[in-house]
Amino acid sequence: MRRNDVRTTVRLRIKTEVLTSRKRKRMEQISGRDTRIIKEYLRIIYHNEDKLSLVNEKRRVDKGMLDHLTLSTFKKTMSPQRPTVRHDFKKRFSRCSQNEFQECKEKAATIYHCQQTTMKHPAQKYSQNKIPRTQHAHNNRFILSCCPNNTIARWWVGVRDSFDSQKNNRRYHQKLWLPLSCSPYHEKKLNSGKIKSLELLYFSKKKEWWIHFTLTHNPKLYTSSGPPAVLGIDLGINKRAVSALLTPKGIINRHEIRFWSDKTRNKIIRKNENKIANLQNKLVNPNTTQYQRKDLQKQLINLRKKVKEIQVLTDHTYVNMLVKYILSLGKRYDLFVVVGLPLHIRKSHFRGNQKPNSRKTIHQWNFRRVIQLLKYKLSFQGWEDHKVMAIGESWTSSKCSSCGSYNSIRPRQSTFMCKNCGYEINADLNGAKNIAKRLISYVLQPKYNTIKDLLTDKYFPLSCFRVFPVLGQWLKTMQKFPHKSGAGVSI
Ligand SMILES: [Zn+2]
Repeated sequence: MRRNDVRTTVRLRIKTEVLTSRKRKRMEQISGRDTRIIKEYLRIIYHNEDKLSLVNEKRRVDKGMLDHLTLSTFKKTMSPQRPTVRHDFKKRFSRCSQNEFQECKEKAATIYHCQQTTMKHPAQKYSQNKIPRTQHAHNNRFILSCCPNNTIARWWVGVRDSFDSQKNNRRYHQKLWLPLSCSPYHEKKLNSGKIKSLELLYFSKKKEWWIHFTLTHNPKLYTSSGPPAVLGIDLGINKRAVSALLTPKGIINRHEIRFWSDKTRNKIIRKNENKIANLQNKLVNPNTTQYQRKDLQKQLINLRKKVKEIQVLTDHTYVNMLVKYILSLGKRYDLFVVVGLPLHIRKSHFRGNQKPNSRKTIHQWNFRRVIQLLKYKLSFQGWEDHKVMAIGESWTSSKCSSCGSYNSIRPRQSTFMCKNCGYEINADLNGAKNIAKRLISYVLQPKYNTIKDLLTDKYFPLSCFRVFPVLGQWLKTMQKFPHKSGAGVSI
């Protein structure tokens, strides 16, 4: 995978309603057998992990060793010359081909690795569901084709039927051609990248079959010949974000200050929250009957789902606006985006700190999702990881962005006043400016050789920010008031 490759998944439903019962049965058979093989592989991995030193330091499975335990290279299973292996998969699953064993083994190895790194119990995640095997496009494991004149479906995927069919005393393999329900939106997505692999999934709740395609995109790397600039973004709840642009000129450009707010979103969410509260009150009421209670619980589940959907959808639209703005700035400047991540804000809003209302809003505030979306959407435009950073925002709202003093007051929630130099500015804008300045100070007054992105926990060397010295004048006043240490939080 190249450095600036971006991966996406396109999920398409298989039109099972037009499938023959034979094909449906085949899909069930294939996925059932795959699940059994993958679980068996997993069992063997867990059984032998210490004894046969299957795992190395990185907790990855030694696949060669696993082959040694499970597969014999000798094809004829009935031959007496066949060497014995401890778990002979070819005897147990005689209708499975070498490639399919390979794919199942890889899947089992990745599941094992995930479970080791996330410390999940092995039986936890995949106890009930069917486990899909990943089929890779580079081995010609499947064909995706577009048939514009077909009346059943426009898009079809041909997956290898891994069970033999018998015809005229001959064994042969067919392709399972599966029709996909594909909207123009998904079609556009499918055409935008290179298809790498697919997984065949079954959702038992809805009784639907789905295909998940993994695509890779290789966007053109973002470079700019313009002067360097840092865009500081301070995230908020009511005002969703404030941004300030620091350019080599050394003054804040009044035209490049942006306040993003979304009043309709807050209104809709508050309305639904009230509805939820009403329902919860009714549930607690001792007079409600059991029958009513069940109904209320159903309504509650639906409402909560709705609120979550609204939150995710509005986050997308708002980040899209941000991205559009950032891209327009990126044409004029060699732009670095830095977002303040309120790391410890949830810890400071514990139960019993006398602010129950703000606690609720703060715990529902999904700042990580916003930053993740921003990073993801910009990576699609070829922005490298170090161009979009998330750094700690502690103390940025109580520090004066003009003189660097911490001696400040907030006469109102929205205004910031410095007692040291008398500077008055919008409080959120002050925060955004400080966040941008903090990145510059990390580079030009370095304590460490690397800068950590708090969202992805990646470290970037200072050489990534080679163009920063011209931004040095932003830090002139900061030297008088050194950076306050300690992880305090100010709201
Ligand atoms: Zn000041």
